[in-house]
Amino acid sequence: MDSSKVNKPPKDSTKVVHSGKEDVSIHRTVNTPVYRASTILFKDTEEVEKAFQDAYGRSSDSPGVFKKVPFYGRKGNPTTWTLERALTELEKGYDTVLTSSGLGAVTTALFAFLKNGDHLLMSDSVYEPTRHFCDQILRKYGIETTYYDPLVGEKIFDFLKPSTRVVFMESPGSHTFEIQDVPGICKAVKSKKNQEIVTMIDNTWASPFYYKPLTQGVDISIGSCTKYVVGHSDAMLGSITSVEKHFPNLWHSRQLLGVSASPDDVYLATRGLRTLGVRMQKHQENALLIAEWLSSRREVEKVFYPPLKDDPGNQIWQRDFLGAGGLMSFALKDADENSVNRMINGMKYFSLGFSWGGYESLICASYPGRSRTATKWKFKEPGIRLHVGLEDSEDLINDLEGGFERLLQV
Ligand SMILES: *Cc1c(COP(=O)(O)O)cnc(C)c1O
Repeated sequence: MDSSKVNKPPKDSTKVVHSGKEDVSIHRTVNTPVYRASTILFKDTEEVEKAFQDAYGRSSDSPGVFKKVPFYGRKGNPTTWTLERALTELEKGYDTVLTSSGLGAVTTALFAFLKNGDHLLMSDSVYEPTRHFCDQILRKYGIETTYYDPLVGEKIFDFLKPSTRVVFMESPGSHTFEIQDVPGICKAVKSKKNQEIVTMIDNTWASPFYYKPLTQGVDISIGSCTKYVVGHSDAMLGSITSVEKHFPNLWHSRQLLGVSASPDDVYLATRGLRTLGVRMQKHQENALLIAEWLSSRREVEKVFYPPLKDDPGNQIWQRDFLGAGGLMSFALKDADENSVNRMINGMKYFSLGFSWGGYESLICASYPGRSRTATKWKFKEPGIRLHVGLEDSEDLINDLEGGFERLLQV
C-alpha cells in the first residue's frame, strides 16, 4: 500500500464524521455519551491538586496547556471536550471553548479582550444582538464602539485609534450578506505598529465546514452552533476557537463569566456535527437554485446571496470560502408590511420563525436599515429573509410562487 496516501490528512467531510472522539470510547459506544456532572469526585487531596494544575494550565510538564481533565462541571467533561476537539480541527485553530449560546460566545470573546477606555471596531452589518451588546452593555463599562462599512477592506487602517483593541467582523453580514475582505482587514490591522489589536469574526453563516477564518489571519473565530452544527433547531450553543496566544484569556473568561454549555446540548451538537458535511452541501445546492429562481422574478429587486455570479461579494467569496450556507435575503420592487405579511402567512414549507440552520426552511420579514449607522440601506423595506432547508427544491419553489401570488393580491 502507498503509505503517503494512507497518511494524507483527512478531508473535512471525513473530519466531521470522526474528529474529536476519545481514544478509547467507554463501553465501545460510537458516540461519547452525555456526562451530566457538576461535582467531580477525587480519590484524595493529591489528586485534587494534580487536576487543578492540569485544568488551569499550570502543570510542570506542560505549562500553559489547559488540559481537558475532569475538575468541575463548568470546565467541561468528556462530552464537551469531544466537540471542542472536533471544532478546533475543523476551524484549524489551537483550541475551542464552548458557551451556552452563540451570543454568549460573542459577548465572552468581547469581554475577554476589552476594558474601560478601549475602542472597538464593529462591522455595520453585524448580527443585531451583538450590536445591542456593544451599545447597551459595553458602553456602560466605558468601551467605545465605532461601526464601520463592512466593505471597508484594508482602509480599516484609517479607523484605528491608539485605543483600538478589537476589530470584529462578520462575513457575510446578517440580513444583508456583504462579504468582507477578511485577509485585507487582518493585514491592515496587523500592520499597525506597537499596538496589539485582536481580530475576531462571527463565522456562523458558512459554518467552519465552509469557512476557515483562522487561516486568513483572524485571531478568534466565533460560531453560533445553534445554527448549522446543531442543525435541528433543538439546542442552543456557541463556540470560540482561537490561535494559541489568545486561548488562555478566552478559557478564563468563559470560566469567570459562567456561560458554560450544557452537556445535553453539546451532545446534540456533536450528533449534528456528524452530518454537517452532507447537510451543508444540500443547503448550498438548494439555496443556489432558489436564489437564481428569485433573481428571475419580476417582483424581486435584488437577491442577496454571495454565490450568485452577479453578487458584489462573489469574487471574494470564491477566493476565501469553500462553500455557502442556505441563508439569504431579497428586496422587493414594491413592498409594504401588508403585502409581505400576506406572502409570509400561508407558506407551506417555509415556516415563520427566527434563528436558522436547522434542516427546515424558514421565512421572516427583514428590516436591515433600522439598525445601521455607518452605512445606508438603499433598498425597500421590509425585505424577506429565507433559510433554505433540506426539502425538495421544487416544492420550495412552488411554495414561494404561491407566496408571490399572495404578495400581489389586493
Ligand atoms: C444566531 C446568531 C448568533 C447568536 O446565536 P445564539 O445561539 O442564538 O445565541 C450570533 N451570530 C449570528 C450571525 C447568528 O446568526
